[in-house]
Order: sequence, then C-alpha cells, then structure tokens
Amino acid sequence: MRIAALFFLCLVSIPVGSRPLPQSDSLTLKSQQAKQSMEEGNFVRAISLYRELNQAVPNNPGLKLNLGMALHMAGKKREAIPELEDAVKLDPGLAPAWLFLGATRLQLGEATAAIKALKMALSLQPDHREARRMLAYRRARGHCLLCDYVSLELKLAERIVCVNDGFAAIVPFWAVWPFETIVVSRRHIGSLTGMRDEERDDFADIIRRVAVRYDNLFRISFPYSSGIHQSPTDGKKHPESHFHMHFFPPLLRSATVRKFMVGYEMLANPQRDITAESAAARLREISEIHYRPRPASA
Ligand SMILES: [Zn+2]
Ligand SMILES: [Zn+2]
Repeated sequence: MRIAALFFLCLVSIPVGSRPLPQSDSLTLKSQQAKQSMEEGNFVRAISLYRELNQAVPNNPGLKLNLGMALHMAGKKREAIPELEDAVKLDPGLAPAWLFLGATRLQLGEATAAIKALKMALSLQPDHREARRMLAYRRARGHCLLCDYVSLELKLAERIVCVNDGFAAIVPFWAVWPFETIVVSRRHIGSLTGMRDEERDDFADIIRRVAVRYDNLFRISFPYSSGIHQSPTDGKKHPESHFHMHFFPPLLRSATVRKFMVGYEMLANPQRDITAESAAARLREISEIHYRPRPASA
C-alpha cells in the first residue's frame, strides 16, 4: 500500500501572439507529441521534446514547468530543480510549479526548501472549497452536510464500498480519480481526538479494508494519495466540520494504465473515466483477504 505523490500534468499550449511564430505549426505539433509522450509514460522522449520547445520559446514558465515535470517523472530530480525554479521565477503565481518544486525537493531530502515551496503552492490554491461548502450548508439547513450525505448514501447503497459500526467507505458521486473513495464517520465527529475507543478501532478497520481492496484490484501494491480533513484548530467551534478521509488513486485500467489530469481537465472540467457506481461495485466485489499470503512468522 504505497502512498504515491500525485502530480497534475499541466500541459500548456504554445503562446502564439498576433503575429504567428514562423514555426508555430511545427511547435504545436511538437507540443502535442510531448503531451502524448507524457501520457504514454515515455518521459525520455518528452524531455527531449520539451528541451527543443524551451529552446524555441525561451522564458515560457509553462514550458519550463513541463520540462521540470518530465525530468521529475524520469527520476532526474536534481535536473528538474533548475527548470522548476525558472518556472516560478518567471511566474510566481504558477501553483503547479511550486507544488512540483516542493515535491521534488522533498524527495531529495531538502525538507526546509520543500516546505517553503509547498507553502507557496498552498497560499496560491488554498483548498478551502469544502470547508466553505460545509459552512454554507450548516447555515442554510441547520445540520451537517456530511451527516446528511452519509445517511443518504447508506440508504441508496449504490456507491458504498464497505461499512462498519463507525464508518462508511463510499465512492462519492463527485469522484474524479478512478476508484476514488471517501471514508466518513457515521457519527458526527470533528476530529481524531473526538473519537471514542471503539470508533478509533473502526477507523483502523475500515482503512485496512479499503487498502486491501485497492491492492487486490490489480494485484499490486496499489498507489494512492490520501489525507484526512478535520475541524480547523483556530479555537472556535466548528459544528459544520465532519471528520473524513480521502483516497485518490491514479490507476485506471491496470497496474500500468493510469489516469493523467491534463490541460482541459486542469483548465475546465475533470473527465470521469468510470462512473462512481461502477467503481464502487468493483471495489465492493473484491475480497478483503489480501492477495499475497502473510509471510510465515519465524
Ligand atoms: Zn456531521
Ligand atoms: Zn475532504
């Protein structure tokens, strides 16, 4: 159960001004080939194409970012740094470049520089959307959005993966990543510290069951990014906050075919490759006994 960092691929188009560049057609073609190489996982080819594009269109932050990402994905972390540094120097508002820079530095063991870059990414894209929505729902209806949501999903039973006394694992109807799940407490709990003993055990139980199902799906150590959302710690009361955990897996059809968030998805709407209901059904049918037998104890 490997937690892999997910990186969004922001594939920029070639800037063409009022006077088209003499080679704009070939540059556009090269840009498309580079994007395709990234999608196919051919990072060596993507690096070479992005190097050519950066030479042809110098000082373009998006192209610097793409070259940095290709280098990162090819395992050339050290070489990725200057390209990503250039990208944020050219456009300090380019959140994905800060994000990639932070992740690359983290993987190189440069924690202080990594945190600085990741803080920049967060300040540019603070993910407060959920918190704002929960607050608005509470104010409008007088009760908690996720309490209502989890009871509705339990009633419908179409998108439920598994449940225990304390928690439900659901493929939410808004899922964007394939096999994305949300683990929600059935009782209104704000944070880990608000859990009863038995809920703590139930939480451990449901995480294990979700993770085993993920591993069994393609019979590999399944990669995902995950995180917990709980009450803000600003000293105020937050009755609108409801403890939950997200899982965002990148794999789509097999151990090697993954989903990439590409230009249109970054700039307009995410594309759903599989429905929430079919993803939930697949996960539900999968055994909770891990496909690899436990090693015999010595
Ligand atoms: Zn609640
Ligand atoms: Zn959340």
